[in-house]
Amino acid sequence: MKLYNSASHTREDFVPHTPGKVSMYTCGPTVYHFAHIGNLRSYLMEDVLEKFLRYDGYDVTRVMNITDVGHLSSDADTGEDKMLKGAQREHKTVMEIAQFYTDAFFADCKKLNIKYPDVVQPATGMIDSYIKVITKLMETGYAYFAGGNVYFDTSKLDHYYVFNDHDEEDLAVGVREGVEADENKRNKTDFVLWFTKSKFEDQALKWDSPWGVGYPGWHIECSCISMKYLGEYLDIHCGGVDNAFPHHTNEIAQSEAYLGHPWCKYWVHIAHLDTAGGKMSKSKGEFTTVSTLEEKGYDPLVYRLFCLQSHYRKALVFTYENLDNAKAAYEKLVGRVAALKTEGTADEAAMEKYDAAFREALGNDLNTSLGVTRLYDVLKAKDLSDADKLALVGKFDQVLGLDLLKKAEAKRAEQAKATTTASAGGYTVTGEGDAEIDALVLRRGEAKKAKNFAEADAIRDELKAKGIEVTDVPGGAVWKRI
Ligand code: AMP
Ligand code: ZN
Repeated sequence: MKLYNSASHTREDFVPHTPGKVSMYTCGPTVYHFAHIGNLRSYLMEDVLEKFLRYDGYDVTRVMNITDVGHLSSDADTGEDKMLKGAQREHKTVMEIAQFYTDAFFADCKKLNIKYPDVVQPATGMIDSYIKVITKLMETGYAYFAGGNVYFDTSKLDHYYVFNDHDEEDLAVGVREGVEADENKRNKTDFVLWFTKSKFEDQALKWDSPWGVGYPGWHIECSCISMKYLGEYLDIHCGGVDNAFPHHTNEIAQSEAYLGHPWCKYWVHIAHLDTAGGKMSKSKGEFTTVSTLEEKGYDPLVYRLFCLQSHYRKALVFTYENLDNAKAAYEKLVGRVAALKTEGTADEAAMEKYDAAFREALGNDLNTSLGVTRLYDVLKAKDLSDADKLALVGKFDQVLGLDLLKKAEAKRAEQAKATTTASAGGYTVTGEGDAEIDALVLRRGEAKKAKNFAEADAIRDELKAKGIEVTDVPGGAVWKRI
């Protein structure tokens, strides 16, 4: 597979450290509020990547953290802890908030067919690891203690801007949202590994450490959780593009300073979901969730198809008009799959050809929209039997995750249920599930039996006007919409 690596700024051949195995780390949600569909775009596209790697034969281990402490309202160590803010907003404890929004997050993921990671680790469960890593960074001179906090000294690195597409505006991140720059930092880009001098007295979660009672910085969480479960050599690290700086940049700084060797091979960043007003963001307060979509009558998988139709490295603008197009496309897809019969013999060579085209699309830096086109190609194919088409739809859907076979089955059941039978006096009417029409057709039958042909013809005309065609059969009639 070819994968764009943000660290090298090129599309590279994907070669994991251990042949056949892939270690994959994803920055999990900060659980102080519901995830919005922008956050979920990131998780959804990462899910497709994971599933494609599995499809391609790799044994993937995926780890995700849950940020339940340490993520301050500015990404650059200033402002309040987002979790504390969430708890205050809802008059609950931080742990109650964390549990509630973690559960809500995974419920949303389930609705979008995003697989539950192999390991999910809340940040609050790893304090000893943070202390161990920070202690070594202090001993080796990469970290310093100032003003009550422990900082990472970025001037000790030869190369800090790994994703070097950042400018002065990014550096101003520390003074965003009207919060003051931290005077204790030796360098503007230094970042906190451990807070002991909380800027707010009521910080809820604190732990003892060699530097005093306090709590970890946000970046150290991901480094330690990744290293604990995936070892010293990570294959893929993912996240939304806003995480590239400072979060991922700082993860690399501290992990490589700690390990003494390169850490993660491939960095995959998902572009944002934007609204007409700019990036969709939790801190803006107003955002669209999976529940919002459901309340408006959308199947969450319509949103999945909407995301699949564009490339993960391109910003995607969300509008309901665009979503409606995806909805129409999804319904059509399900309808076409539902219309396939389970008949036909397997033409292995033809199936192989279509599967190869699908793999090529996804293997080219996860070209999901081309992958969806490859699915349409299968449905249109002249050289595949219906049974072969169904088999391929099922295979591709292991990656696309659109539940096409399940939805098609439900649609078929719905159509079957819609055919009802009504009978009276030995006269049977079979139709498409409408009691009113059944009654009319029955009355017509009775009129005919009574040789009241004028009434029978009048009812036939009435039915015709309603778009119903009646066919007489032995012992009754069958009607259908035309
Ligand atoms: P957070 O819960 O804020 O820590 O964010 C969870 C994930 O969503 C991170 O990987 C972010 O980079 C990502 N993210 C945040 N906003 C958006 C957006 N508008 N579009 C896509 N991904 C986003
Ligand atoms: Zn992270």
